[in-house]
Amino acid sequence: MKVRTCPNCGYKYSFWLHLRKHFFTNVFSSWSCINCNADLIVDAKRRILLLVIGIVPIAALPILVDFFMGYYLGRPISWTLSVVLVIIWATYIFSLDHFRLAEEKHVEEV
Ligand SMILES: [Zn+2]
Repeated sequence: MKVRTCPNCGYKYSFWLHLRKHFFTNVFSSWSCINCNADLIVDAKRRILLLVIGIVPIAALPILVDFFMGYYLGRPISWTLSVVLVIIWATYIFSLDHFRLAEEKHVEEV
């Protein structure tokens, strides 16, 4: 299964469209494919996995800050850089979402 692609028609959602459309929506709410109108949902299990991977660096923030301060960057710059990096990372991870047809929701996953 490809990332950000409609399983029905194969339409690939652009990163920005996906971000705009699905970042703040409930994982379990469906939407209609803009290309073929099929009911789609975000793969919830994958979203949770991605969330975990995306959040891990937040715990590592102090380590990152220490790393940058090792290059004689001031504390505010080190923090800013670290936070920006984590946000970029989380956004990238989020863009790896998978879509599924909504009616497959009840089907047992392997
Ligand atoms: Zn479609």
